[in-house]
Amino acid sequence: MAYTDTRLFIGGEWCSASDVRTLDIVNPSNGEVIGTVAHASRADLEKAVEAVVEGFRVWSATSAFERYKIIRKAASLLRDRLEEIARLLTTDEGKPLAESRLEVNSCADLLDWFAEEGRRTYGRAIPSRSIGVQQFALKEPVGPAVGFTPWNFPMSQIVRKLGPAISAGCSIIIKGPEEAPAAPAALFRCLDEAGIPAGVVNLVFGTPSEISEFLVPHPAIRKVSFTGSVGVGKHLASLAGLHMKRVTMELGGHAPVIIADDANIDAATTALIGSKFRNAGQVCISPTRFLIQSKVHDQFVESFVSKAKALKVADGLADGSQMGPLINERRRAAVEALIEDAVSKGAKLETGGERIGNQGFFFAPTVLTGVNTDMRAMNEEPFGPIALVRSFSDIDEALVEANRLPFGLGSYAWTTSATTARRLAHGIQAGMVTINHIGLGLPETPYGGVKDSGYGYEGGSEALDAYLNTRFVTHDTL
Ligand code: NAD
Repeated sequence: MAYTDTRLFIGGEWCSASDVRTLDIVNPSNGEVIGTVAHASRADLEKAVEAVVEGFRVWSATSAFERYKIIRKAASLLRDRLEEIARLLTTDEGKPLAESRLEVNSCADLLDWFAEEGRRTYGRAIPSRSIGVQQFALKEPVGPAVGFTPWNFPMSQIVRKLGPAISAGCSIIIKGPEEAPAAPAALFRCLDEAGIPAGVVNLVFGTPSEISEFLVPHPAIRKVSFTGSVGVGKHLASLAGLHMKRVTMELGGHAPVIIADDANIDAATTALIGSKFRNAGQVCISPTRFLIQSKVHDQFVESFVSKAKALKVADGLADGSQMGPLINERRRAAVEALIEDAVSKGAKLETGGERIGNQGFFFAPTVLTGVNTDMRAMNEEPFGPIALVRSFSDIDEALVEANRLPFGLGSYAWTTSATTARRLAHGIQAGMVTINHIGLGLPETPYGGVKDSGYGYEGGSEALDAYLNTRFVTHDTL
């Protein structure tokens, strides 16, 4: 399918920006401009607010069963178009085609799950203290919502907000990723063709700060959800707090990986290689600080480094590509600076640490050993293909390091001891802990962080709660 320019989707219509402004889209595999995306003006945002208010009026009065049928149909259209949408995803964002296919499939699965769950927002009847009084806790949608989503998973980051919102009966404006807008547009086409009423879902792009400064305080917007960096998240949470809006924040991470000396090292490195270098490490739950018990440190490094060296780094559309480029030159320079800093402070470069080729934004899978807490990479989210490895002697020491940073999103551990597993499951300060396998991010499981990594959930039944109010009704029937 040919690459097409992306427009805004407002009130059920695809439209250019009112002032016809556009932004260029760059293919990160070769640095070439491949198209444009419309840049919303203030007038477009005002139109989007009018649309989302009207969408809420219609959708909140639509039965949960009707909503379910439309959302399931959109999921089925996504599956029908999997191949063409996956190619758009890879072209815009760079990840290997196999990963893009997984992302499209996971979006369809997420939509199915949220659609089903939307039929189960039961509320409850509460026994009263007087004969004749009936008491109910009813669930109702919070109102029009706004979701700000980043470029690393251009489609699934949207579905993790839009899916629960529309399943709960809310309408939503998505501020999508300007870097990778084509797959999001394809998702909205599926929703439109599935019959979602005008204004229920709206898609805008533009200057992120302009859009958030207008939409977050707007009195018509009742819920704000953001995925991105901690700094921006804190700013938007403050703005939302000032205007008393419900908020979900899915921010950065710096995931610890604890490998105990009784772990199955081969199984651990096989699983972790895929997870670390997936999407070139540009993942908020990417394994980052590898803490290895001293007895198995060398064995782990040897196995992990040899697997990292064997990865095929290439254009995501190329056969056999296992890792694509970074999203842009800014991210590549940031990753490079973190590695230079670590090496200048004594880290050993086991593999990688360099740019690949002279086209696009490729960077080699990188493993650093002998890292310490003075290094920037050990404190800032690298958001790139960097594994930082250090050894520890006992589990308490590993827990202190795992919990040292203000982040608390994903975390990983490998051990064959049930006692150690239990200590880690409860001792790591994180929203998610996965032990002896990579098991995070399924539609039916909670997805969210603690500490500076944010609050609220974007998976499981908790995700719907974020878009629901509880209304208490008491009725004396006598
Ligand atoms: P960035 O901080 O410029 O932007 C991050 C995201 O926030 C982007 O989607 C951007 O559009 C949005 N954003 C920025 N300012 C905003 C504002 N005022 N209002 C609303 N949205 C705003 O960083 P970047 O270079 O694009 O990405 C790198 C950093 O962002 C990473 O280091 C990582 O910490 C974070 N990030 C996290 C996730 C995640 O999944 N949690 C995803 C992408 C980026």
